[in-house]
Amino acid sequence: MTFESLGLHTSILKALTEAGYTEPTTVQAQAVPAALAGRDLMVSSQTGSGKTAAFMLPALHKFASAEPADESGKTPNQERQSARSRGDRPRFQAAQPKMLVLTPTRELALQVTTATDKYSIYARRIKAVSILGGMPYPKQMQLLSRNPEILVATPGRLIDHMESGKIDFSKLEILVLDEADRMLDMGFIDDIEKIVAATPETRQTMLFSATLDGVVGNMAKRITKDPLVIQIAGSATKHENIQQRVHFVDDLSHKNRVLDHLLRDETMDQAVVFTATKRDADTIADRLNIAGFAAAALHGDMHQGARNRTLDAMRRGQVRVLVATDVAARGIDVPAITHVVNYDLPKFPEDYVHRIGRTGRAGRKGLAISLVNHAEGMNIKRIERFTKQIIPIEVIEGFEPKRTASPSHARKPGGWKPGDSRSAAKPGQRTFSKPAAAPRGEGGGYKGNRDASAPRRSFTDR
Ligand code: ADP
Ligand code: MG
Repeated sequence: MTFESLGLHTSILKALTEAGYTEPTTVQAQAVPAALAGRDLMVSSQTGSGKTAAFMLPALHKFASAEPADESGKTPNQERQSARSRGDRPRFQAAQPKMLVLTPTRELALQVTTATDKYSIYARRIKAVSILGGMPYPKQMQLLSRNPEILVATPGRLIDHMESGKIDFSKLEILVLDEADRMLDMGFIDDIEKIVAATPETRQTMLFSATLDGVVGNMAKRITKDPLVIQIAGSATKHENIQQRVHFVDDLSHKNRVLDHLLRDETMDQAVVFTATKRDADTIADRLNIAGFAAAALHGDMHQGARNRTLDAMRRGQVRVLVATDVAARGIDVPAITHVVNYDLPKFPEDYVHRIGRTGRAGRKGLAISLVNHAEGMNIKRIERFTKQIIPIEVIEGFEPKRTASPSHARKPGGWKPGDSRSAAKPGQRTFSKPAAAPRGEGGGYKGNRDASAPRRSFTDR
C-alpha cells in the first residue's frame, strides 16, 4: 500500500515524500481510509507506530480539498479582514477551529503541532497552533486571533479559553483524543467531558489509547458513534525492535557506576534516563554533566520555555542524555534515542511500556535497561506480567552485583523450602506466577518512589 493509493491530496503527498515516508505504517493503513470516509475511530496501537499521521493526514486532506470560499467568495479569515477594514468591529471574535486534538502533556501537544506543520507545509491555508498551560496568555490570544483551523491543546488551558469566550467550537468537524488513557490517568476526565459537550454532535471523533479496556473504553464508546475499532497487536505490542534487560545493583553507588558505564557505550546515540522524582532528575543531570556527559533534566517543575529549549537541544543532538520524570517524557519522539535507562522503576507497569517506547522509534532498534535493586524484584515481575514478556537479567563484566541475580526476588518473605514447586524456578526458567492480588498503584515495595502515594492529579500538566 502507498500513500497515493489512499487518495490523499497532492500537497500532502509531496510533504510526505519530503519527510521520507515511503509507505503507511500498519495503523495508518487501517485508520486513514476509514477516517477519510468520515468514520469515528477507536484505536489502540503501540507507541512509535505513527498514530499522529493516522489522524492528521485524513483531516488535512479534508481541509485541503475543501472549497476555500464561502458564497461571498471569501474565506472566513478574509471575511474577518474585510470586516475589520470596514471598521465593523473592535469586537473580539472567538476562534472557530475545525479540528481539535487533545493531548495529555504540553510536549506532546507541541510535537503534534510540529508534525502537522510538516505534513501541511504545502497546504498553505491550513494553520495549526498549540494551546498549552505554561504559555503566556497574550501569546495565546495572538495565536487564537489568527483563527487557526487546527487547535492542539492540553485540556486545562483549553477550558480556561473556552470559559472566557475565546474559542467557539460550533464549527468543529473533527475531535481527536490522543493518548486518551493517559489523560484519564492524569485526572482530566471532567475537563474532557466538558470539552466534548461543547462540540457539535455532528463531529467526527477519533480516540487513540494504549488500551481500550475499562474506563477509557467506556468513555470512548460514549463519545464516538458507530466507531471502527482498530487494535494493532502482535509483534508491535511486544516491542520486538526494543531489546530489554535488567541489571541488578547493590546500592546507589553501584547504580551510579553502572549508569556511567552504560552511557559510555559506543552504540549509544542519545539516551533518556528515567528517575522517580524531579529532584533526582536534577541531581543526576548535574552529576552526569560534571562527569562529562552532555546531560539535561526534564520534569514538570521546569518552566515551559526551559522544557522546550531542552527538548530542542535534544532534537539538535546538543543534549545526549535526557534525565526525565515520567510526565515530562510522555510521547517524546526523538528518533536518535537509542537507549532508555530506568534509573528508578516506574510506579505503574504501563509507564514502563511508555518509557521504553521512547526508543525504537519508527522501526529502529533500541535498548531499554532497568537498574534494579534486589528488593525490587517483585516490581519487575509485575512489569513482566503486564507486558507478557520475560526481561532477561544480565551481568556486566566488572560491574557484578555482590548478590547473585538468582531469582531471590521470586521467593516469599519466609524463604523457600526445598520441594516448594512454586519457588523452584531456576534462572532462565522464570515463569509467570499467578497475578498478584495487589491493586494497581500499590506502593508496597517500590523503593525510590517517594511520592508513590501521591494522587495522579499531581502530575497534571495544566
Ligand atoms: P505514535 O503517536 O504512534 O507514538 P508518532 O506519530 O509519534 O507515533 O510517529 C513515530 C515516528 O514515526 C515519528 O518520528 C514519525 O515521523 C515517524 N513516522 C510516522 N509515520 C511514518 C511513515 N509512514 N513512514 C516513516 N516514518 C513514519
Ligand atoms: Mg502519539
